[in-house]
Amino acid sequence: MIEPDMLEVFMLRPDALTVWEDEEVKKRLSWYHSVMVDEKPAKFLIARRVELEENPYDITDEGELWRIHEKASREFESVFKEVADTVSSASEFMKRPEPRYSYLDVKIALARRLMDPCRLCERRCMARRGSGQPGVCLVSRECIVHSAFLHLGEEAPLVPSGTIFYGGCNFKCVFCQNYDISQVNARGGQVVSSMELARIQKALRLRGARNINHVGGEPTPHIPFILESWKYLDVNVPQLWNSNMYMSEESMRLLLDVIDIWLPDLKYGNDECAWRLSKVRNYWAVATRNIKLAHDSGDMIIRHLVLPNHLECCTRPVLKWIAGNAPRALVNVMDQYHPEHLVLKYPEKYREIARRLRREEILEAYRIADEYKLAYRQVS
Ligand code: SF4
Repeated sequence: MIEPDMLEVFMLRPDALTVWEDEEVKKRLSWYHSVMVDEKPAKFLIARRVELEENPYDITDEGELWRIHEKASREFESVFKEVADTVSSASEFMKRPEPRYSYLDVKIALARRLMDPCRLCERRCMARRGSGQPGVCLVSRECIVHSAFLHLGEEAPLVPSGTIFYGGCNFKCVFCQNYDISQVNARGGQVVSSMELARIQKALRLRGARNINHVGGEPTPHIPFILESWKYLDVNVPQLWNSNMYMSEESMRLLLDVIDIWLPDLKYGNDECAWRLSKVRNYWAVATRNIKLAHDSGDMIIRHLVLPNHLECCTRPVLKWIAGNAPRALVNVMDQYHPEHLVLKYPEKYREIARRLRREEILEAYRIADEYKLAYRQVS
């Protein structure tokens, strides 16, 4: 299940080393970098040391659990500040004792509740996942992993990236490049326990992963399992959220203090394109709300996949929004779109995206990024 070694990585991607000579990248990804090089502990390790006075798994009232969560979040804030100011070795920090119940436990208790009936994403489809009923995302009570390996094709600061591909997705993108694991064969991967998921993350880190990259499909339906895996993970490694950012507000509250670096995908500049191409409602408000929250809480690289004929309706408003609302983020303007999945099957229906990008389109996307003064090429 888990692959290659470091030699191959550095022969293939010398920019994975030189990117850190770029002071702008280092400044914008400073927290991530310090965890990556083991100067600071990952946020999940800090959360695990914020003590709760009660056992959250015994509490049945969801409102009470949120109150405990908020209190622990304030405590986390002060521990995090102390760590940011004073700690210079993750391994030293990891010697600190862990309480019986921690901030991470109340997150797990809440995530289990949000899963049944399911409100983990803004579809809020209320599937009874705990009873085995799959949601719109095709995920039910089990964590499904299709593959986990050192990914060499991500942005330079991220590779080698310890990438875990989860099954299922809450979007229905007609051009999905991973449609086998997100839709067609979403439930065909390997069912893994939270302990097994921790073991996979540890193995990736020990093989040289700079981060654990939770992706799919989409990681959102798997939030309860991912949080639970961090109870068992005993190595320091930055946690990376690689997502369409359609999480519910509640899921965002669970993730904000425990993700070290965000890799959101801002696809569309309006709700009509989002509905037509991904069958998702209220896209713009949800995705921008969540990206703004994440940007204000941590390091971030925003991806935007340029689609043929969507320069004015999508690329321009997306890049304009980033310039005004997420100025600290690095941006990857992606040019690798190619027709897949339903676009190949129904090329007439999706005619405007039934081809690759033309050179002038990608140049126009770069020109728009320049117009808004975005820091986009450092990571491409
Ligand atoms: S994560 Fe899946 S099951 Fe949960 S609300 Fe979203 S689509 Fe429904």
